[in-house]
Amino acid sequence: MKIAVVGTGYVGLVTGTCFAETGNEVICVDINEEKVAAMQRGEIPIYEPHLDVLFERNIKQGRLHFTTDLASAVKDAKIIFLALPTPPGEDGSADLSYILKVAEDLGGIIQDYKVIVDKSTVPVGTAEKVTNVLKDKTSVQFDVVSNPEFLREGFAVDDFLKPDRVVVGTSSEKARKVMEELYKPFVRQGNPIIFMDEKSAELTKYAANSFLATKITFMNEIANFCEKVGADVDMVRRGVGTDTRIGPRFLFPGIGYGGSCFPKDVQALAKSGKESGYEFKILESVMETNEKQKLRLIEKVDAHYGGDIAGKTFAMWGLAFKPDTDDIREAPALYMIDALVERGAKVQAYDPEAMDNVKRLVGDKISYAESMYEALDGADALLIATEWSAFRNPDFEKISGKLKEKVIFDGRNLYELDRMRDLGYSYESIGRSMDL
Ligand code: NAD
Repeated sequence: MKIAVVGTGYVGLVTGTCFAETGNEVICVDINEEKVAAMQRGEIPIYEPHLDVLFERNIKQGRLHFTTDLASAVKDAKIIFLALPTPPGEDGSADLSYILKVAEDLGGIIQDYKVIVDKSTVPVGTAEKVTNVLKDKTSVQFDVVSNPEFLREGFAVDDFLKPDRVVVGTSSEKARKVMEELYKPFVRQGNPIIFMDEKSAELTKYAANSFLATKITFMNEIANFCEKVGADVDMVRRGVGTDTRIGPRFLFPGIGYGGSCFPKDVQALAKSGKESGYEFKILESVMETNEKQKLRLIEKVDAHYGGDIAGKTFAMWGLAFKPDTDDIREAPALYMIDALVERGAKVQAYDPEAMDNVKRLVGDKISYAESMYEALDGADALLIATEWSAFRNPDFEKISGKLKEKVIFDGRNLYELDRMRDLGYSYESIGRSMDL
């Protein structure tokens, strides 16, 4: 099939590359000229494990192309995917301007039947809005389908090639057949393609992300309570997660969820609720708790140093909002950096993939190290913000040789308490206490 993908961010590029991998001919469109020029030279603009191999292979085999020209990209395409940003608007609702602008452009371009697929995360009713915008501009036949994306950054290729399920919202039999044919190679192991109406598909994505954000937040609250009463959240987590009704995933406490999806999607669903006269009390509470949780480690730093950290230097391991990505959108590390610098402290940061993005955002507000150990040079303490594998089993002798004092604040619970006690560290983590 001939496919156009509009928007080549984390979702669009993975979508385009993976569809090319199953033999389709794909043209990816983006308005960012620099990005498109780089991709045309064969340079991949994001860090996403395993994507580079597929990207190179499909370019070489002539199935994956890049352009800034929407009209030429969609001319022969049967399916047009919209993988455009839907950032939070000023009032917290999803900003649909990117989607509606492209819908308007498409209305002036398309000459024959197209299936226009919305892959972005959008509020209920967006397929209808896109349809109306197009209908105002063209008399050509088309169908607008909602096909929310569930990939996780860091596992995006695997998630796309072997999805737990594919959700397709359409009331058109013709579009349904096209989508079924397109996705068949991805569900050969029997995972379902779940067909439903457009509105239910749009809400499915928000419900999934809001549920996951709630699960994380619930566990963060249990962790905070563990600290008050002297329980160990690791034990509680294991005891709870083995209940098959609950399951072991998304139960790891930490310094709050971040990223480009959970914060904006929870906020957008709560806002959609309000607009429809429904108050999502649970989501309001999730957002409030998560904001506080992002500074949980800083509270521990403050408590350790009696509230005065001016002039202190902190090494920070991890900047990305989670491991295996260079994405720093809404990363808890950024909130921690602001809080530390505001209090007069210095930050020496290291992240395996996200440092360029942070440099672009905060510049020389902090300093950047070449390696995880270099970040420790002369620092008063180490803070851990992201659970990259490389941080899981470090050389503690090397760490103590570089830090002024053996002090670690760990927002991701990477180390065993017994081990840290034996090594003589002052070690603060989330929901666990050294005194147990
Ligand atoms: P992104 O910001 O990484 O990428 C968006 C791309 O669209 C950018 O390259 C931008 O230049 C391009 N763009 C903007 N306007 C354009 C236009 N008029 N024409 C062509 N290109 C244009 O975004 P993303 O993370 O890929 O997310 C896209 C959507 O998918 C969002 O709705 C998001 O909520 C959703 N989503 C994201 C993830 C994720 O993990 N990142 C997962 C599932 C769903």
